[in-house]
Amino acid sequence: MMMICPGCNKAAMKVHHFHGEEVDNCRSCGGMWFENGELNGALSRADNGDDKVRVEETLGQQLGASARQCVQCECIMRRHFLMPGYEIEVDVCHQCSGVFIDEHERAKVVHSPLVKKHLADLNAKISAKTWIFQFLSQMPVEFSLKPASRPIMTYLLLALNILIFIGYGFDLNTTDTVFDNFAMRSSDLLAGHHPWSLVSHMFLHGDLLHLAGNMYFLYVVGDNLEDALGRAKFLGLYLLCGFAAAAAQIIADPSSSIPMVGASGAIAGLFGMYLIWFRHASLTFMFVIYQKKLSPLAFFGIWLVFNIIGLLMAGEGVAYWAHIGGFVAGLAIGAALKSKVMQDNPLLAMMNAPEVKIAR
Ligand SMILES: [Zn+2]
Ligand SMILES: [Zn+2]
Repeated sequence: MMMICPGCNKAAMKVHHFHGEEVDNCRSCGGMWFENGELNGALSRADNGDDKVRVEETLGQQLGASARQCVQCECIMRRHFLMPGYEIEVDVCHQCSGVFIDEHERAKVVHSPLVKKHLADLNAKISAKTWIFQFLSQMPVEFSLKPASRPIMTYLLLALNILIFIGYGFDLNTTDTVFDNFAMRSSDLLAGHHPWSLVSHMFLHGDLLHLAGNMYFLYVVGDNLEDALGRAKFLGLYLLCGFAAAAAQIIADPSSSIPMVGASGAIAGLFGMYLIWFRHASLTFMFVIYQKKLSPLAFFGIWLVFNIIGLLMAGEGVAYWAHIGGFVAGLAIGAALKSKVMQDNPLLAMMNAPEVKIAR
């Protein structure tokens, strides 16, 4: 029997081997017809981490009648999103469960079991545990992809910051001596003194809360960024953002003799990169007792507004310019490296695709 393509109605379909199934493929438009069960068989075998795919059981929203007819039943097919949260459009026959897939959707359909698996984590609902954690710690809970590699560099940075603090932070005299020599002062640095403070200030913290807050955020965004970039590049960009933060602070107030310490500027740079590459992640935000998952854009947008308000109110004790400078540097790096990072991380590219819808 010769089958005319339901997609373009132009050409006859030819048998094509696709992940272990013999399916019908149009040589004109590239569309593919899957008889009942064939799509499940192909996806189960496509090395996606799911060997029991049941597409018909997890179809997403129905979008109405398709312009196409089922090649077997000759009835009008229905347009569906492939699954909730993954808005790839496919044509499905409700009588025989046949599926027609356009050529440009094919690769995305093949990856769907993998997307589904990761969406389960990303779309997880806030639990009592996440609420209690944030209520007590005032720190956000992250919903993101699990890094494929162990974030060794992030651990090293955490250990270094914590060990250095333990070395001086519990004694006021030692703290004064350390800050005199290793904290950054704009006026001092511009006069050519303590040039190493450009680096050393990033590894010092004013008190335990300052350290804990910074280290928590470093851990939350650092593991994913290190996974995406690789260890050396991650460290390089971390330091670069720290320098950008210091530069912003020096330019904003070159005559200042107030010592600046902290990893906040470098970490603010990580926020910028995370915002651009991890669109699909969520961070919880808590307003008194109301907790909500926010996109990185919304979360760091609010963070930026707080910093700008702090700047305008001329608050003492926080280097707002450094935060903003580091963040802007991170955004610029994030934009510049986006296509390379997506190329190097197919999973990240997949989850960043506009078809992926995150439930917040
Ligand atoms: Zn066709
Ligand atoms: Zn049919």
